[in-house]
Amino acid sequence: MNMTTNTLRKLASIQRIKALEPIPNADAILKATVLGWQVVVKKGEFQVGDLCVYCEIDSLMPEKPEFEFLKGQNMRIRTLRLRGQVSQGICFPLEILPAEYRETQPLAEGLDVTEVLGISKYEAPIPTQLSGKVKGHFPSFIPKTDETRVQVLQEALSTLAGTRCYVAEKLDGSSASYYLEANEQSGVSELNACSRNLNLLEEPGNTLWQVARACQLEEKLKSQSRRLALQAELIGPGIQGNKYRLQKPELYFFNAFDIEAYAFLDHADFMALMQELDLKPVPILENDYLLEADIPRLVEKSIGVSVLNAQTRREGIVIRPLQEMRTLENTLGRVSFKAINPEFLLKYGE
Ligand code: ATP
Ligand code: MN
Repeated sequence: MNMTTNTLRKLASIQRIKALEPIPNADAILKATVLGWQVVVKKGEFQVGDLCVYCEIDSLMPEKPEFEFLKGQNMRIRTLRLRGQVSQGICFPLEILPAEYRETQPLAEGLDVTEVLGISKYEAPIPTQLSGKVKGHFPSFIPKTDETRVQVLQEALSTLAGTRCYVAEKLDGSSASYYLEANEQSGVSELNACSRNLNLLEEPGNTLWQVARACQLEEKLKSQSRRLALQAELIGPGIQGNKYRLQKPELYFFNAFDIEAYAFLDHADFMALMQELDLKPVPILENDYLLEADIPRLVEKSIGVSVLNAQTRREGIVIRPLQEMRTLENTLGRVSFKAINPEFLLKYGE
């Protein structure tokens, strides 16, 4: 379900309108359900069961006449509230697809049409104190950090309903991965620090490195008999608007990965490690949550304030089984997913 290593996020795909419901005090629009998303559509445009082209939030649409109306949004599809109803994504009629494409393809549910429409993904800019000089690629022996959105997981949820899980707060900062590796010249084992996609050289001005040194991460990793990679969210001044109003940058850890075993530590093992190494885990909201296969319910659950700052809306939640699980069809597909707080998206214009 965490699809880092296999499928990319489908930004635009053929989907079925699963339900249409009225919106109080609104005559001209309806609430449609597509996958696990709630989308406002014009009344009369679709019937239940119709196929449409559904574009997710964070789609960057090409500058074409049919997408003109998004110019004011810099072509990005964002979360909106219309007549009190949260709307995420846009449903277009199938005619939005080029005629030649429609004639040569069976337009089946799930078909990815991101590329044929020329859609790319909006990416938040990386602050300069986190970018720095590149040492190399992100290592292939550690999974990149990523979380799948609950709205596309209905099938998997149905299978996993009742699984004992924990719920963590999702923090809005920048991803950081740390591990030890032998220096190419000296052969001495040393700390490596990676941002979301890159291995970064140690430089005095680089926050990713500063925080790691401040908490003696190299020494702590060396104290372990297992070769571990630790992954954290870096938050603080200069990062994503410092939503938690911290005085200095801090790391909140959410993954420990055993490199030789190619497996994440189970939750209890991870928490014990955090305690032993005196590192902070991301806030844990629930310790024994029986997974509900109900997407609107999980989105509801994501709403709330941050444990780190009660003045700040929480970005969302990440749900994982207490015992790590892999989906059957893919040995790398870790069961782990996020529900983003729609109120957070509205507040920060995302
Ligand atoms: P999308 O996948 O929806 O296109 P994205 O790839 O930018 O968006 P995010 O919404 O940033 O992903 O969600 C994944 C990231 O969330 C991880 O890379 C990680 O850095 C961060 N994160 C913050 N808090 C947590 C947490 N508690 N557990 C796991 N990841 C977390
Ligand atoms: Mn992602």
